[in-house]
Amino acid sequence: MGEEDRTPLSSFIRKTLAQSLSLQLLEETTSQLQNQPHFSTACSFNTNEPPRVFKTPKTNFTRNSGFSSLGSVEEISSCCWNCKTRRPFLICESCGSVQPVDHSVDYFRIFGLDRRFDIEDGSLEGMYKNWQKKLHPDLVHTKSKEEREYAAEQSARVIDAYTTLRKPLSRAIYLMRLEGVEVDEEQTVSEPELLGEIMEIREAVDEATDSQALNKIQSQMEEKLRHWCNSFANAFGSKSFDEALKSIQRMTYYHRVNEEIVKKL
Ligand SMILES: [Zn+2]
Repeated sequence: MGEEDRTPLSSFIRKTLAQSLSLQLLEETTSQLQNQPHFSTACSFNTNEPPRVFKTPKTNFTRNSGFSSLGSVEEISSCCWNCKTRRPFLICESCGSVQPVDHSVDYFRIFGLDRRFDIEDGSLEGMYKNWQKKLHPDLVHTKSKEEREYAAEQSARVIDAYTTLRKPLSRAIYLMRLEGVEVDEEQTVSEPELLGEIMEIREAVDEATDSQALNKIQSQMEEKLRHWCNSFANAFGSKSFDEALKSIQRMTYYHRVNEEIVKKL
């Protein structure tokens, strides 16, 4: 039997094995789920209960204590306060009730995004507008006082999420927080090379007398920002948090210079 003949057979065996394994896994998972009451589609507590507020304690971000959003107790137990559907999201899809804020849901999930630095252009804006439309006071004004309050809180949180994720620097800092790494934005630079560069740039900005000169520095800063954004994305992707912090520090400086230029323009 030649090499060519064996390959299809072995791949066929692998495929069949994989299929039967995944089927077995599926069966096991299904039976496990059926045995766990909190995985049912509806919540089990008494439907005559008054609306319950599932307030989760505000998360404190501290180093080395990253919080996980998936599978947390809060999330599993969260049900629509009105129709008890499991895991409603901002607004219950079954009955349309506005839900109280669930802090275990991170900003990325609000917009249906993966927890990663690179986000597709426009993916944020569309979802943001969509949520703001659904939570708009005009649309919820006929609802109960509680629901109107929930809508206002959800809306404020959606705005926070959008503002944080929209800009690369704040998005990077937020991602680090989710990993339990607190970024000190006021940390002073100790690297002589970077210090020298910053001083040079500052001088150039001070001395720039016309918008042309400022625009030139601005495009240089934007390029540097792009470079360090890429560095951050790579470092974060490979969980090299020290490297990621270094990138954030540089992003912070170039971002500040950019802000100064905008003020002067
Ligand atoms: Zn509901």
